Amino acid sequence: MTNQQYDAIIVGSGPNGLSAAIVLARAGLSVLVLEARSTFGGGARSAELTLPGFVHDIGSAVHPLAAGSPFFQSLPLAEHGLEFIYPPVAAAHPFDRDGKAAALFGSVDDTARTLGADEQTYRRLLEPVVKHWPTLAVDVLGPLRFPNHPLDMARFGLDAVLPATFLARRFNTTEARGLLAGMAAHSIQPLTNVTTAAIALVLMAAGHHRGWPIPRGGAQQITNALVSYFQSLGGHLEANRPVRAMTDLPKSRVVVFDLTPKQLLSIVGDRFPTLYRKQLEQYRYGPGIFKIDWALDGPIPFTAPACRQAGTIHLGGTLEEITEAEQQTYDGKHPEKPYVLLAQQSLFDPARAPAGQQVAWAYCHVPNGSTVDMTEAIERQVERFAPGFRDRILARATMNTAQVESWNPNYVGGDINGGIIDVRQLFTRPTLSLTPYRTGATGIFICSSATPPGGGVHGLCGYHAARVVLRDSFGKNTPVELTGE
Ligand SMILES: Cc1cc2nc3c(=O)[nH]c(=O)nc-3n(C[C@H](O)[C@H](O)[C@H](O)COP(=O)(O)OP(=O)(O)OC[C@H]3O[C@@H](n4cnc5c(N)ncnc54)[C@H](O)[C@@H]3O)c2cc1C
Repeated sequence: MTNQQYDAIIVGSGPNGLSAAIVLARAGLSVLVLEARSTFGGGARSAELTLPGFVHDIGSAVHPLAAGSPFFQSLPLAEHGLEFIYPPVAAAHPFDRDGKAAALFGSVDDTARTLGADEQTYRRLLEPVVKHWPTLAVDVLGPLRFPNHPLDMARFGLDAVLPATFLARRFNTTEARGLLAGMAAHSIQPLTNVTTAAIALVLMAAGHHRGWPIPRGGAQQITNALVSYFQSLGGHLEANRPVRAMTDLPKSRVVVFDLTPKQLLSIVGDRFPTLYRKQLEQYRYGPGIFKIDWALDGPIPFTAPACRQAGTIHLGGTLEEITEAEQQTYDGKHPEKPYVLLAQQSLFDPARAPAGQQVAWAYCHVPNGSTVDMTEAIERQVERFAPGFRDRILARATMNTAQVESWNPNYVGGDINGGIIDVRQLFTRPTLSLTPYRTGATGIFICSSATPPGGGVHGLCGYHAARVVLRDSFGKNTPVELTGE
């Protein structure tokens, strides 16, 4: 290397950009991260959005995938200030009838016991996945390849490939069917789509393995720990550095983009061969989200006791209701009773709000690009399961899909997964390739959630991309192999 200022430049400081940066720095490369915004972290940032003293998670809030990430587990993040808090109930799912709720606990046993007649069915479904989860996670949360543990993977795949609505037929109770639907709806697509069972199984297994924790102090603390570790390896970062063209970059041997195909095309599209460019142009984004953060003068008065102990609540009622709401969203409509994901972080991390007061975080799915204000629909769903909720609101901050995208350009049309993860795009993120992190141009790579394994704060897209960078451009092997053992 002669006239290069850096071995590698990473564009974008989301969890995947920072993870790629760490893998490259650990291999001894000089690495610079350029971030468009004034703060690092992409989807994992926190700020006082409503009133002074109320710390809100602007993007991610609850972190089963971060806690369960084989890559994050290989990093000394606790030494760099990251502490996870585990609410007693990982996730609760209330129903109208009798103020009851299904609940995902740390153990399969505790969860199964809440499901009445479906107790044994739940055990049969989850126990094998949970037993093999540490090694299975390495295969499931990686790019398409021959699995390290083919038998476990095949067993998992038989259930995972199903539409969630189909898998739900194994259950008889409203509680078990609703719990499964609430999990599967994280996929942000109709629950009748094949492979929607996979996200439910992954989230439930991750919950039984390492829980659904929240970081003490907010999602920003995950970022801060990644940044601090990266800097300890000699890495450099610059904020307020939007990259609009390759000429904005200092000289380097490789550039790794923590961006999605739309931005990649606008920055570097002219360097790609026609076929690769065409594939990126055909990349599809999914539904968006409408987000609310509340400052509250007390805890949310949920009727169901399990909800009052849960970090995350899925509000949407029965499997049938959630299926209908997600289908409507996919069809371009705004459901009257949307499926709402809600987190109540300050119940377990009191420093997030002034004494005796609380923050809460929620979003619902909306059509891509929607500017409809869903405040009323979301608050109606909370009130439905927590009468008196509205009286506790001191202030709120909202973001429609346009505001979400202007906060972070990776969320095109409000799609927080960096592109829809349906069966067509599961194996073509962002193009059909066994090495999806390589682009059509030498020395240019992509590492965002538009690559496998997709959305969520886990850093695994960045880890896998960096392995390819090391092999392709530096002839090096990755210092740490993930085995999950
Ligand atoms: C409201 C919301 C709730 C979520 N909830 C959860 C959750 O609870 N749990 C969970 O695991 N995940 C959650 N997610 C998803 C998670 O945040 C993302 O999947 C994750 O952040 C993706 O990481 P990434 O590194 O691929 O990209 P991002 O985190 O999106 O980072 C991309 C970075 O690139 C920067 N950038 C963009 N364009 C440029 C440019 N031209 N030049 C320089 N920099 C640029 C952006 O500013 C950003 O910092 C949520 C996301 C949102 C928005």
